[in-house]
Amino acid sequence: MLIAVILSAQCTDARVNLTTPALFAAYPTPQAMAAAPLRTLERLIRSCGFFRMKSKNIKAASRALVERFNGRVPRTMEELLQLPGVGRKTANVILATAYDQGAIAVDTHVLRVASRLGLARARTPAKVEQQLSRVVPQAQWGQVAHWLIFHGRQICHARKPECLRCVVVDLCPSAKRFLRVTSGRTKG
Ligand code: SF4
Repeated sequence: MLIAVILSAQCTDARVNLTTPALFAAYPTPQAMAAAPLRTLERLIRSCGFFRMKSKNIKAASRALVERFNGRVPRTMEELLQLPGVGRKTANVILATAYDQGAIAVDTHVLRVASRLGLARARTPAKVEQQLSRVVPQAQWGQVAHWLIFHGRQICHARKPECLRCVVVDLCPSAKRFLRVTSGRTKG
């Protein structure tokens, strides 16, 4: 999962899922990944974009796992952030999904949809994470990012949110603004 999340930056989940089988078949352990030739890694992950940087990070993160964490992905934010290529969002995805620790991973969809729904007003992922953790019950921290991401992809698009199809339109403080724009366009 750690490697898949590193690959997923600026890349679709579908593309990552097409890439990982051959990658993991070739290098099935952190030890093997750490020893992999950089050029081979680049060739295997090329279609995911930013393949040079991602290859370096995957190799360096694997080496760090072997040298500092006994070949296992650590379970704390502080330790995860020590791994090359791992930022706060990646660490939260690992903590929430792999270790069921109830962390909130904030990406561009979460930032946008949380703001439109009035759940968080900050502009940086770290602050939005804090604000969401205050308004969302802790038992749902692991799921809330998935819900917001899904909603952002399916309905609350960045450029043209489909408020008329939205199940939370009656609760959303941004709906009126977008519906006004839509009706203005329709009239025009
Ligand atoms: S009502 Fe519109 S802006 Fe609000 S969450 Fe739904 S789609 Fe997004």
